[in-house]
Amino acid sequence: MAARPEQKTFGQSTTSLHSDRSLENGTAVAPSIHQSVSYLAESGEDFLHKATEPLNDQFYCRHGNPTSSRIAKVIAELEGGEAAMMFASGMSAISTTILAFVENGDHIIAQKNLYSATASFLNRLLPKFGVDVTFIDQTSIENFERAITPKTKLIFVETPSNPLLSITDLRGVSEVAKANNIITICDNTFATPINQNPISLGIDMVVHSATKYIGGHHDLLAGCVTGSSNHLGTIWDVSMDLGPIAAPFNSWLALRGVRTLKLRVLQHNSSALLIAQQLEEHPKVGSVYYPGLASHPQHELAKRQMTGFGGMLAFDILDGYEAGRTFIQNTQLCTNAPSLGGVDTLVTQPAEMFSARLDETEIQALGITPGMIRMSVGIEDVADLQVDIDSALFSI
Ligand SMILES: *Cc1c(COP(=O)(O)O)cnc(C)c1O
Repeated sequence: MAARPEQKTFGQSTTSLHSDRSLENGTAVAPSIHQSVSYLAESGEDFLHKATEPLNDQFYCRHGNPTSSRIAKVIAELEGGEAAMMFASGMSAISTTILAFVENGDHIIAQKNLYSATASFLNRLLPKFGVDVTFIDQTSIENFERAITPKTKLIFVETPSNPLLSITDLRGVSEVAKANNIITICDNTFATPINQNPISLGIDMVVHSATKYIGGHHDLLAGCVTGSSNHLGTIWDVSMDLGPIAAPFNSWLALRGVRTLKLRVLQHNSSALLIAQQLEEHPKVGSVYYPGLASHPQHELAKRQMTGFGGMLAFDILDGYEAGRTFIQNTQLCTNAPSLGGVDTLVTQPAEMFSARLDETEIQALGITPGMIRMSVGIEDVADLQVDIDSALFSI
């Protein structure tokens, strides 16, 4: 007789839908939103136990919350972490995680192409507390090796990076870090856990702005970190003092979003590739930055560490800044708005976005050209987006 089929591991969509179900008793199909700030303690002993246990979600809401535990469980499962924690924003996840592992006198290595608020946290805030940061070109592993000092405690990377979709060799970074006893953190927001799992490549911790693909609908602000239970305990301990955790309702929205993450990301992947190919052929467009294109300088590396190339791309409009503005003004389906990773297509002009924090030479040094457009490709019918893009380019 054939053995009864038994399922031990699940695919990414099943994981997104089922991995948190065991965390709540009851029969409701949709999760509850636990708004309660505090929970009954059965005894003095129970009170003390709940107050000190990392990530306990039924004591006081700053310590944890049952709704946040559910989305955290899904993210940990998707990324291959032992535990995860939800934050009020991507930046609170990033800043709390970094603060948990460094102290006065320590040194951090970070890549030079980073989300701008992460860069600002590292180069404006941390030096005030005696933490030194070296920014390096992330396209070569030797640059990481060369930057290591006896004080290097942590390496922070982001791949693909904002806004130029540069790729960092995660396996290479993790090997160099492990050999030197250095902690590694990767911002996996652009890739999503569907396309890339840094922990499986040896990275210690993964952070996300869940505001982007995990939430996916432009209607919540949240962040998360996942990694070993040990590391999460350390982060939780610091979060007790900083208080950066997610509100239950935002965790609930993120949980609702993550249920469809794989469906959406597969669509983002395929639409973005088609649009990148279309732009590459267009006479008014210079470089197109998309890791799924054979012309991307790190396409081979992207293929090794990603299973899909994501929904983010950038391209240079040859005629410069004003032409870029004209393009944006003439699209019908692409909204000129910050943020990314949601169902709607959004476009920005990085030269403008970055001028809020940087001067012209600094912007140029990052490789950003005046006519560059960053596009977060949504899940509209791709044929409609392609016509819209062609028509807006025609208007220049
Ligand atoms: C948006 C973003 C962040 C910051 O997240 P918030 O939720 O806005 O705080 C960090 N890293 C990347 C790559 C992002 O896109």
